[in-house]
Amino acid sequence: MSMIEIICGKCTEIFKEHHSKIRSGLSVNCRTCAQPIVFDSNSEDLNIRKALAAARRFRLQASGEIQTHESAGSADISLQTAS
Ligand SMILES: [Zn+2]
Repeated sequence: MSMIEIICGKCTEIFKEHHSKIRSGLSVNCRTCAQPIVFDSNSEDLNIRKALAAARRFRLQASGEIQTHESAGSADISLQTAS
């Protein structure tokens, strides 16, 4: 089981969330400053996109196959990987 580090864009506090929880559409509150952190694959916050990408990678590893469906129903597939 893997925990993914999330950096609050407001107070820069680092906290961890289990990868299975992190998916597009999730919003959590920073445990330090209560800033809402919205996980959106189109987020302008690089840390959010990195966390989403990391979570997806862990999920793929855990399942052993590529899952093409996302229960959130959002355009998570549009996540672009910079190369
Ligand atoms: Zn914070």
